[in-house]
Amino acid sequence: MNLISRISARSPWLYRINAGSCNGCDVELATTACIPRYDVERLGCKYCGSPRHADIVLITGPLTVRVKDKVLRLYGEIPDPKVTVAVGICPISGGVFRGSYAVCAPIDQYIPIDVNVPGCPPRPQAILEGVAMAIEIWKERL
Ligand code: SF4
Repeated sequence: MNLISRISARSPWLYRINAGSCNGCDVELATTACIPRYDVERLGCKYCGSPRHADIVLITGPLTVRVKDKVLRLYGEIPDPKVTVAVGICPISGGVFRGSYAVCAPIDQYIPIDVNVPGCPPRPQAILEGVAMAIEIWKERL
């Protein structure tokens, strides 16, 4: 990180994309937003409601055929430098949906993934660790 970037440093904003998940991973993500024990804001970041404000994107689900175009459009709206975290085994390999005609996983065929958080679903502690890694990568890219 150069001097200008250090001076103008700010906290990253998180954005969540559901790419056709069963919602199991999303429940665990919700835990990091509203349960004090796993509060992601302790890492100095915060969830936001618009892709245009996001710095770090958390993607759940195997990227179903039905939502693929919308997910890619949303992802494209996130400004650079952005860091992408695949949450759960579904975006990483397809998980239990692997090989289905209805999914496009693995998601890294369409979107560059920086951090993988495996699990079905991953525990909140693993998600926090993944976010912490993403923040370090994001700082390096500023
Ligand atoms: S990884 Fe498991 S919990 Fe998460 S979306 Fe896939 S099937 Fe659901």
